Amino acid sequence: MHERFVISNVKLITGEAIDIIIANGIIVEVVEAGYGLGSHIVDYSGSYVSSGWIDMHVHAFPDFDPYGDEIDEIGVKQGVTTIVDAGSCGADRIGELVTRSEKSDTRVFAFLNISTIGLARTDELSDLEWIDNAKTIQAVQDFGHFIVGLKARISSSVVGEHGLVPLHIARELAKQTSLPLMVHIGSGPPNIKDVIPLLEQKDIVTHYLNGKSNNLFDEEGKPLRVLVNAIERGVHLDVGHGSASFSFKVAEFAKQHHIDPHTISTDIYRRNRLNGPVYSMSQTLTKFLYLGYSLQEVIATVTTRAAEWLDKPELGRIQVGDVANLTIFTVNDEQTVLVDSDGIQRTSDKRIEAKGVVVNGQFIECEIWA
Ligand code: ZN
Ligand code: ZN
Repeated sequence: MHERFVISNVKLITGEAIDIIIANGIIVEVVEAGYGLGSHIVDYSGSYVSSGWIDMHVHAFPDFDPYGDEIDEIGVKQGVTTIVDAGSCGADRIGELVTRSEKSDTRVFAFLNISTIGLARTDELSDLEWIDNAKTIQAVQDFGHFIVGLKARISSSVVGEHGLVPLHIARELAKQTSLPLMVHIGSGPPNIKDVIPLLEQKDIVTHYLNGKSNNLFDEEGKPLRVLVNAIERGVHLDVGHGSASFSFKVAEFAKQHHIDPHTISTDIYRRNRLNGPVYSMSQTLTKFLYLGYSLQEVIATVTTRAAEWLDKPELGRIQVGDVANLTIFTVNDEQTVLVDSDGIQRTSDKRIEAKGVVVNGQFIECEIWA
């Protein structure tokens, strides 16, 4: 990166236009638009800037199929400077994910799957032999800087005949490691009304807008009592779009009842990135603009809100003296067809497009898909 690299004429989501000057990967000055001095000035008139986007639910371990992908493909190349792997790996292979992350431009954190095999299989909690508390606790000790929580996928195809047993074990492991849980929900059994009461403050329920029969809203679109109670306890709602877990119908129910996402995440991996319905973080964010959330609200879910949950406030701000961690994007007045996980299409008249990021001391241009 140049000596004094100036990102010129970019708008904050508040509308204020600024120049950001970066030297040696650090933000050294933020000034009124047009006043930035430096050796390399790039004009971004018409673009927005925010702190680097954070995706709280991705699958970044490329060896696994279907739930795997290359780190930078789902990170910096689509405007996301920080990804949080959602339990692709358990204790057996988390060390390999750490090694891979060190060779990537994208910043990586992870939820450790309570199944030691992780997503080597998609029914990773169907045999309780695959849960080994000692190994899991050891992995947390070894990679504490990298692991931000524990992951348990609590739906019928994952837990088989074990119902709530894996979730009770996860709860106990959370206590022993002082880590929060991210719990995937989906088809029952177990019944969602039995799952949600086991979540505590700071835990995350991911896939909260899924349209399966075991979802969090009743026939009339009202949020279930267990959900309302969980929000009051401080349980965090995460989108985790994925191939099967985002329904426009349910998202509209949620919007109507102000059951808003704390974090918007993609649950992206190779197949749903290339073939949809996820494609990218930009496209996922566009869906929430379409639903009627403001640009400020949408961007907050992938910046300040996610950074707060991670206890890393510096990742959610643009401040002189900080390591530069930025996403540059546009909001285009452009018709775009959006599709949810149930194949339902909606047409939006706006589209968010990621243009580039500054991370790891570099400016990286985004590659555009959908
Ligand atoms: Zn899931
Ligand atoms: Zn996932």
